[in-house]
Amino acid sequence: MSVENPETQDEARMPYQLPFPRDAQEEIVVPHAIPEDDRVWVPQAENVWFRPLCLNRSSGYWVNLLKVRKSGVLSRHRHPNPVHGYVIKGRWEYLEHDWVAETGSYVYEPPGETHTLVVPEGVEEMITMFQVNGVMYYVDPWGKHMGYEDVFTKIDMCRAHYIKCGLGEDYVDQFIR
Ligand code: FE
Repeated sequence: MSVENPETQDEARMPYQLPFPRDAQEEIVVPHAIPEDDRVWVPQAENVWFRPLCLNRSSGYWVNLLKVRKSGVLSRHRHPNPVHGYVIKGRWEYLEHDWVAETGSYVYEPPGETHTLVVPEGVEEMITMFQVNGVMYYVDPWGKHMGYEDVFTKIDMCRAHYIKCGLGEDYVDQFIR
């Protein structure tokens, strides 16, 4: 890297000295993304849970871990906006594509994708981190609208579950920006 005024040895380890922008949001640090307390997993369907990491109401996206402990079809949905995924455990695939997302895989789902998520037989547990922008638009095989999720429905689900499990409705606040 070339800089006009190379830093002196003293400055190399010096923190940035100026204030952050006054309106900048607070960072989020989650020490145990895979939580030690199972109550943090929000039930989504039978044997399907999500764990919120960043619920970004300002930009309309959310980052979560999806955990599945069953095989078969999970959902069919369209993405008007991009999705990024990183497979932490297990594997999954889409009926519309011939690849399999294995442990360690990164997946980019471009806007316009409609796909049917399947966890293959023999996978005891699948955990994937997804960053979902905008909405998950659920459809039948012919594109008929069956429902949707966005960052606000996710926040609502978290609040309802955290009240019920005793963590309290404010527990979700730490993930909201
Ligand atoms: Fe998807």
